[in-house]
Amino acid sequence: MNLQKNSYFCCENNNNANVDEFFKPYLRFMKDLTKKIAARYNNDPTRLMDILLDLHEVQNHVSDDQVDTLAKILNQSGASIRETISFYHFFSMKPLARYNIYLNNSITSVMRDRQSVKEAFEMDCDIEFGQVSEDGQFGLFNTSCIGMNDQDPAAIINGKIFTNLTPYRVHELIKGLKSGQALDDLIYENHGDGNNSDPDVHSMVYNHIRKKSIILKKDYPFYEVLKTKLKDVSPEDVIHKVEASNLRGRGGAGFPTGLKWRFGRKIEGEHKVIICNADEGEPGTFKDRVMLTEYPEMVFEGMVISAYATGADIGLLYLRHEYKYLLKFLNRKLDEMRAIGVLGKKVAGISDFNFDIRIQLGAGAYVCGEESALIESLEGKRGEPRDKPPFPVEKGYLGYPTIVNNVETLATVVKILYHGADWYTGFGTKDSLGTKLLSISGDCKFPGIYEVEWGTSIKEVIEMCGAEEVQAIQVGGPSGMLIGVKDFNNLNSNELMKWYKPSGMMIAEKFFDRRLSYSDLPTGGSIIIFNKHRDLLKDVVMNFMDFFIEESCGSCSTCRNMPFVMKNKLQKILDGHGVRKDIDDLLSWGKTLKASRCGLGQTAGNPILSSIFNFRHLYEQYIQSLTDFDTGFDLEKSIQASAKFTHRKASLHSF
Ligand code: SF4
Repeated sequence: MNLQKNSYFCCENNNNANVDEFFKPYLRFMKDLTKKIAARYNNDPTRLMDILLDLHEVQNHVSDDQVDTLAKILNQSGASIRETISFYHFFSMKPLARYNIYLNNSITSVMRDRQSVKEAFEMDCDIEFGQVSEDGQFGLFNTSCIGMNDQDPAAIINGKIFTNLTPYRVHELIKGLKSGQALDDLIYENHGDGNNSDPDVHSMVYNHIRKKSIILKKDYPFYEVLKTKLKDVSPEDVIHKVEASNLRGRGGAGFPTGLKWRFGRKIEGEHKVIICNADEGEPGTFKDRVMLTEYPEMVFEGMVISAYATGADIGLLYLRHEYKYLLKFLNRKLDEMRAIGVLGKKVAGISDFNFDIRIQLGAGAYVCGEESALIESLEGKRGEPRDKPPFPVEKGYLGYPTIVNNVETLATVVKILYHGADWYTGFGTKDSLGTKLLSISGDCKFPGIYEVEWGTSIKEVIEMCGAEEVQAIQVGGPSGMLIGVKDFNNLNSNELMKWYKPSGMMIAEKFFDRRLSYSDLPTGGSIIIFNKHRDLLKDVVMNFMDFFIEESCGSCSTCRNMPFVMKNKLQKILDGHGVRKDIDDLLSWGKTLKASRCGLGQTAGNPILSSIFNFRHLYEQYIQSLTDFDTGFDLEKSIQASAKFTHRKASLHSF
């Protein structure tokens, strides 16, 4: 039975009696399939993500009938299941295609001629993006950053990654698929470096590790802490060592890891949960992808250490859907750990220490990087951030005390326990100890992963990655800030501090002398470089605003509306209709966004705010006058588009 043929699904609800009769066996089959898959997860509604993922694996969408079946089995409302499906990029209730092509639309992709790749796909598949071909063979979709910024333009096709796309490669690929070749045979490079060549990964992705320091240096026999050190130290000792190292969370917020673990240890619960947040979705970030490819042992070992310290018995690694190609490999690593006794029952020979890890695949939603949204998703729901308090450490996954740590943080813990806190505090700066993994991409000769000590200057970063004619650098992804060489003293710093003050930012005289640290330039690791030939407003800022508009979960009216309104205002300026008041409005609206519930909304105005603060001259060159009103505003011209849409005359006299 061809499960991907469109016509089957389109007729599912057809009332024609003959057609119903014809499709009865098929509908029964689908119902049985749904029941079978739900049974795999004990009909547990909190495993809805897995159930939906498995259904998509078989048939590429979930039908209306299947939702109804699931609703009965899981004792949920159909509406809530439909809500969940509609939330994630990689779920669908409409039949998709045999080959579903998700082309990354991040800025690094755009900078490497995404447009011509997009056109090549459209021409060869004979459809536009957002459509499925009539024969059900091809579906073309845009998708947010897939974590391949050092090898863009990249696409995900049926879960496989295709990097460095060009129109030629697209032609070859589609020609091959049309002639019946297998997708695997069309991967145009045999495999990437390191574990990308592992049979369970078999991907053309490259790690591009350019600089190793204390974390990435392979000077450590995996699982050594678990095998030789853990049984000799108490959980309190472990927490004490992590506190002594002053390790702060590497996801961006920088919360002290030891303190988080101490809270976690104190709170009582029937179960306690350790979550590794591997949902790196910030455009420009790909370090977790490389850590999970090359150092999964250290990440898992960090989870086990964290569980020992806090008394947790449940471990969950939330893997972003875009990294699904690593799933089999990572599960194998967990099996290997169980086999040698460092995961499961009596971990590392400690009689009362039972802890296991399950990998939960996401389904495409940037906001799930926020810890409470991630927990919602783990519970089988829409990934909408929760109101806080209570914080996850008090009431998290299924109501249990939950500690959420980042991939890099957990790997770092292992090295701290192995070498000691004193060793670790010998690196970095006084207020920012240790090293940071940077994902560097954009206009530079050597994009990739660089492990640098905190305190490294932006100037050093530029030299390291071979960037020239640098105009600007986006530090920390779209939610971070766009910095440039412009002398800061020329700007109105009072205004800046009034409207825009991310985590204690200090003002340095020259931006490129600024240093990566929690007190100057905090970052989760994303660094995107733009040379002098890039149009920062039209290309970069607009792309970032589109990203936030696309990724808002829609709960807060500020985050749902303001990025859209701000983008329109920027467009007005770019169209030459801007006045000085528009810039003031943008600054004011950016402040309104800070009232949003989670970090996504709170930072969604940053692309515009930071570009106004650091590149105000770019805005002013579009401003037609320094008055507050657009004196040349042409009302008739401005209503032409809506007049065309409503079939009315675009003349003021007709009103
Ligand atoms: Fe959702 Fe945005 Fe509100 Fe966050 S800020 S909860 S993403 S609407």
